[in-house]
Amino acid sequence: MSTQPELLAVAAEHLYPNYRQPALVMARGKGSELWDLAGKRYLDFFAGIAVNTLGHSEPRLSAALATQAQELLHVSNYYYTATNLHLVAALTRLTGYPRVFFCNSGTEAVEALLKLARRHFTASGQPERYRVLSFDNSFHGRTLGALSLTGQPKYREGFGPMSGVTHVPYGDLAAVRAAVGPDLAGIIVEPIQGEGGVLEAPPGFLAGLRAIADECGALLLADEVQTGIGRTGTMLAFEQAGVKADAVALAKGLGGGVPIGAMLCTEALAGALPPGTHGSTFGGNPLASAAALTVLTVIEQDSLLAAVTRKGAFLAQRLATLAAAHPGKIATTRGLGLLQAVVLTEAMDPGAVLAKARDAGLLLTLAGSHALRISPALTITEAELDEGIAILDQVLKG
Ligand SMILES: *Cc1c(COP(=O)(O)O)cnc(C)c1O
Repeated sequence: MSTQPELLAVAAEHLYPNYRQPALVMARGKGSELWDLAGKRYLDFFAGIAVNTLGHSEPRLSAALATQAQELLHVSNYYYTATNLHLVAALTRLTGYPRVFFCNSGTEAVEALLKLARRHFTASGQPERYRVLSFDNSFHGRTLGALSLTGQPKYREGFGPMSGVTHVPYGDLAAVRAAVGPDLAGIIVEPIQGEGGVLEAPPGFLAGLRAIADECGALLLADEVQTGIGRTGTMLAFEQAGVKADAVALAKGLGGGVPIGAMLCTEALAGALPPGTHGSTFGGNPLASAAALTVLTVIEQDSLLAAVTRKGAFLAQRLATLAAAHPGKIATTRGLGLLQAVVLTEAMDPGAVLAKARDAGLLLTLAGSHALRISPALTITEAELDEGIAILDQVLKG
């Protein structure tokens, strides 16, 4: 059982059918290139949903993982490990947050934010507060806690009632003001709504949320699962708004492809979740920590933040040219750094464009209703960006 058709038969018969994969099996990757089992090459403009920060098979990441696997894979959080503590030092230094809790995914990092916000008030001797404010069109994850925050009916439908969350329109500070009160524990926000369609917070929105949260004594919670770890050109996207949240959720790009999530917070929140109140068996294990530590080290060594800003500007300019060439097909382009989107007009079928691009050797993802999302490895080259845009140009001409 090693050919592509044989493996596809296993998937069709036995894999839980909650996704809609095309009929191909990925075999290997190098940088921003992927090859399937049939030997077809793809240019990777999505990096496993903004995960493969350093691209595929980055030699320093492969080596760090191999070395760590030969020394120590896992001991649980009942003991410290040196690799994890090196990561703690690097992550807190690079983000400016003094405390970090490790988990295994974005959903779990958001769940930690939610539990932190809910428990902080009673733990600090204040009256109970449970309610959290979130935004329409947001995506915060799939567990029932994180799903209760997610502001998109298509993800929530069929899962029954979820409570304790108020949703208001993204970008609307007046709606936020009208919805807050002394019972509010926190406001959770993505600096750019990624799954929602790569929608940037309007200027002043994050600063406005900071002010409102301070006025009503609630916490400001940043979901940087997709935008964090350099994706927009700064370690956290919030930095570009000059705003500091009380706590931050990270995951996707942090491990460069190895599952790891993190919740960062201020020292004032260090008492909210004392021993016994929260935890994770795998969270921050040595293998995952070795990956994240390497990602952070390479980002610094190779000056990837500056590179993302440069390549992001290059990409934005190329996408604007592409949009100008296809006025009836592209409505707009938007995004920041290496999280951008080509938004198709209502007349277009985004799924069909995505499939044609894939057939032509370019991998993208859909976000929102009509956005083709571009979230490549931070190491992608300008030549590769040009190659992918040329493919999109051909597909849109056809
Ligand atoms: C992907 C994502 C999540 C969920 O992360 P998982 O690792 O899939 O659990 C949460 N929030 C945002 C903003 C995301 O993009």
